[in-house]
Amino acid sequence: MRKQILIVGAGFAGMWAALSAARLADKNNGQAIDITVIAPQPELRVRPRFYESHVETLVSPLMPLFDATGVTFLRGTVSDIHTDSRSVSWKDANGESHQHGYDRLILASGSHVNRSFISGVAEHAFDLDQLESAAVLEKHLQSLAKKPESEARNTVVVCGGGFTGIEMAMELPGRLRDILGSNAKTRVVVVERGPQPGSRYSEELRNVVIDASNELGVEWRVNAEVESVDATGVTLKDGQRIASSTVIWTVGVQASDLTAQIDAPRDRQGRLHVDANLQVVGHKEIFATGDVAYAATDDKGNHALMTCQHAILLGKFAGNNAAASLLGVEPSPYRQEMYVTCLDLGAWGAVYTEGWDQQVKLTREEAKKLKVSIVSELIYPPKAERTAAFEMADPYAPFV
Ligand SMILES: Cc1cc2nc3c(=O)[nH]c(=O)nc-3n(C[C@H](O)[C@H](O)[C@H](O)COP(=O)(O)OP(=O)(O)OC[C@H]3O[C@@H](n4cnc5c(N)ncnc54)[C@H](O)[C@@H]3O)c2cc1C
Repeated sequence: MRKQILIVGAGFAGMWAALSAARLADKNNGQAIDITVIAPQPELRVRPRFYESHVETLVSPLMPLFDATGVTFLRGTVSDIHTDSRSVSWKDANGESHQHGYDRLILASGSHVNRSFISGVAEHAFDLDQLESAAVLEKHLQSLAKKPESEARNTVVVCGGGFTGIEMAMELPGRLRDILGSNAKTRVVVVERGPQPGSRYSEELRNVVIDASNELGVEWRVNAEVESVDATGVTLKDGQRIASSTVIWTVGVQASDLTAQIDAPRDRQGRLHVDANLQVVGHKEIFATGDVAYAATDDKGNHALMTCQHAILLGKFAGNNAAASLLGVEPSPYRQEMYVTCLDLGAWGAVYTEGWDQQVKLTREEAKKLKVSIVSELIYPPKAERTAAFEMADPYAPFV
């Protein structure tokens, strides 16, 4: 009887999990394992670039790659996980319901920004979390040019000064100039709960963020929290009001809701606790990977972040270990000691740091070149060529 590995999600983690499982099965004389991915689209959506324009182009097709590596793709959405019967319920693109059994389940259904907990955010704010919502934001920004000049039209408020908020904010002065003309008096305001711009980062990185903000004219409202958002702007908890037609929400990222269907410990963001082999605690037949996994990266207490840097490697280890557990092969414990960040800072350039203490190694144009090569080459899927794809899917293949 052929064994079934079922992967939910075709993002960075799901795609690499599929390739890595197929690689190990192939290495073990193509033993009888079926590898199936269920996801709404057979494409990798390059979420780290969603602050850019032309967002609809930031996808990469996966069917040729899955065909070349013997991975089956089912287009649809998983609604329920039945851990007792080892099966999932899913709906195809026509809305028809199906069941799919598994011997090993790899949950790789990613994350989403939560817009429901502050008044007016769901109705009036934009986000750049998913392709569809980022496309709505882009269309709205373009439409500003047709609206009458006003302070609200010319002001964009970015709620949250984490990496996503910073990259979006630094991109906006240039974007707004292109849309509204260089004479328009535009404002970009970041609303941040912390006491300084980038206060949750190292001092070195923070200073770079402050320098770039000053040079680009990006304002920060620090020690500030959003009370509510409406059609004409943002009200802060201290009563201050910022008139704006464009409020962008970047905080409160949560793991996919499917994690709640598995009876296992989860962290504050809903990520499932996993052991070193990425098996969900208490469920040897379920692996969690990418943004749904709370996984230790080393023995020093560091854990994977919701980044594609971690999702790619987590995916490779999860796929490998799911296949290993069916093949009777030793698993490979997940390790990712190296942690880097590369943050786009718009026309200022970029900044590249190394280590969990975020030592700044490159800035400005040098870092920008690296950023471009990371987001336009390194994180894209491999060529649809079996040998090359399997080589890269090896969890121990060189990676950052
Ligand atoms: C604006 C933005 C900027 C970012 N910038 C960076 C950056 O600079 N560097 C960095 O490293 N990371 C960055 N990230 C984070 C990075 O994009 C994520 O960590 C990464 O995408 C996680 O990969 P994943 O495979 O776990 O999830 P995803 O890439 O989100 O993929 C999830 C997959 O699961 C599918 N799915 C979801 N629900 C279901 C379901 N019910 N049934 C079936 N399929 C389902 C989705 O369609 C998708 O295919 C950024 C994210 C955003 C939004």
